[in-house]
Amino acid sequence: ERAREILESVKERDDTRLGVEAMELLDAYGIETPHGEIVDDPGDALEVAEEIDGNVVMKIVSPDILHKSDIGGVKVGVENEDVFDAYEDLITRAKNYQPDANILGVQVQEMVDLDNGVETIVGMNRDPQFGPLMMFGLGGIFVEILEDTTFRVAPVSESEADEMTKEIDAAPMLRGARGNDPVDTEGIAETIQRLSQLVTDFPAILELDINPLVALPDGVKAVDVRLTVD
Ligand code: ADP
Ligand code: MG
Repeated sequence: ERAREILESVKERDDTRLGVEAMELLDAYGIETPHGEIVDDPGDALEVAEEIDGNVVMKIVSPDILHKSDIGGVKVGVENEDVFDAYEDLITRAKNYQPDANILGVQVQEMVDLDNGVETIVGMNRDPQFGPLMMFGLGGIFVEILEDTTFRVAPVSESEADEMTKEIDAAPMLRGARGNDPVDTEGIAETIQRLSQLVTDFPAILELDINPLVALPDGVKAVDVRLTVD
């Protein structure tokens, strides 16, 4: 099974923290991610960017840098002609931040339409008392400010996942407040369930966050992930 292979290769690398290089884990559980690839050469970055329609997002990929934006490690809306410079700049920033950082490369990713979407977070933490606790809330920059989150013990049933999308304070935002289209709350609930299955299948995953899971009118996209394994 693909997910097992990915987690075992992590063990071999002796890492306990993972970032977007773990995106494939989500794929393996049917959680949709934007089209993207990790490359370790600016020429390859351009090739991937050219395959993607329109501008792209570029992100530093390093298990030592899990809060990428904090070091300027995320570039949104990069045009093809700027891909080379963006690549070099991301690597430079990473090295300046931590000279001995293990840099795996740069992720070149399709842009997600944030204007018509809502950034949410789906996560899991293992609680010593309750076991794996699934979390859902508003994502992006709001997550720390608003602390608008809700929790259930995994594995989460369909109706529990559905409840989670309804009980955060920002629930009206998901259902089309201020003239916006409602987003795919069923897709969110399904993602919570799929993630809950993943962490149930793999007790070695100690914590995991998809932030943001962008909820769009016609689906959801997991744009960023980080996790810790034991
Ligand atoms: P980190 O959380 O490590 O800083 P993210 O990958 O979450 O890095 O990117 C930070 C922010 O950049 C996201 O919350 C989102 O607002 C924006 N972003 C990242 N990837 C995309 C994308 N593919 N399309 C549109 N916006 C993106
Ligand atoms: Mg993020």
